[in-house]
Amino acid sequence: MNFTRAKKSLGQNFLVDETYAQRVVGALAPRGGETVVEIGPGRGALTGLLLESGARVVAVEFDRDLAALLRQRFGGRDNFKLVEADALGVDFCLAVEPASSARVVANLPYNISTAILQRLVAQRRCVTEMVLMLQREVVERIAAPPGSHERGYLTVLVEAFFDAAPLFDVPPGAFRPVPKVWSTVARLRVREGAAEVFDEEFFHRVVSAGFAQKRKTILNNLRAAPEELRALSERAGGPDALLESAGIDPRRRAEALKLAEWAALANALRGPAR
Ligand code: SAM
Repeated sequence: MNFTRAKKSLGQNFLVDETYAQRVVGALAPRGGETVVEIGPGRGALTGLLLESGARVVAVEFDRDLAALLRQRFGGRDNFKLVEADALGVDFCLAVEPASSARVVANLPYNISTAILQRLVAQRRCVTEMVLMLQREVVERIAAPPGSHERGYLTVLVEAFFDAAPLFDVPPGAFRPVPKVWSTVARLRVREGAAEVFDEEFFHRVVSAGFAQKRKTILNNLRAAPEELRALSERAGGPDALLESAGIDPRRRAEALKLAEWAALANALRGPAR
């Protein structure tokens, strides 16, 4: 096979251990005929197994050389569709058509895994479940409960709309080139009505401001928030009164807040949907 050189800039660490490839695909358990999106199929370590299951695979690969390789390898299969594009710009709802939704599987390029996760969260209307291989630290962050130091903006963003469960770890030796870090495979499932957020964009801005300086209290982060949020907070009687109306002790840190408290805070700032 014509192996192209791994490109570091595209986060290329190819899975070469067949056992782990089978475990990842086994965790997804694709069904014949269902549509599965694979982000960054690379040389096809997961793609071949996915296609064998009879699922329809929509593979999104940015690297032109790898796209050519994938076309050569799987182009003749009826259940294979290659989308040669940057996954950060792909409209997944369009890509999976004629299906209206799909499950996602990926060994994500680490350098943009957070950005891709954010995009998938935003497009969850067409994404029902994801089995993702991520840097172990990223999974620890995503799954961090309230009170944990690992908890951050990404945790709350994912938790607002998905249930996340770590499945198993993958050692660096399972990849070529060998990365410096361990990976973890996690399952993320969309849950309906998880957070009662009136305005999602606004919710993101509030959580981001709350975590701006992780060691500071939520009160101090609100005091130092961007102008728009400070003005809204003043309208609600100032940050102290605002936090009190949302039932949040101002001395707590952002990492201690539960999802429902973030939603209460955002909704208290914004007021109910008009
Ligand atoms: N799935 C393969 C495997 O498990 O061996 C490759 C995984 S490798 C960690 C990440 C893959 O994502 C590479 O094929 C890389 O070219 C691709 N990639 C990187 N950035 C991308 C982007 N923005 N959009 C789509 N694919 C991307």
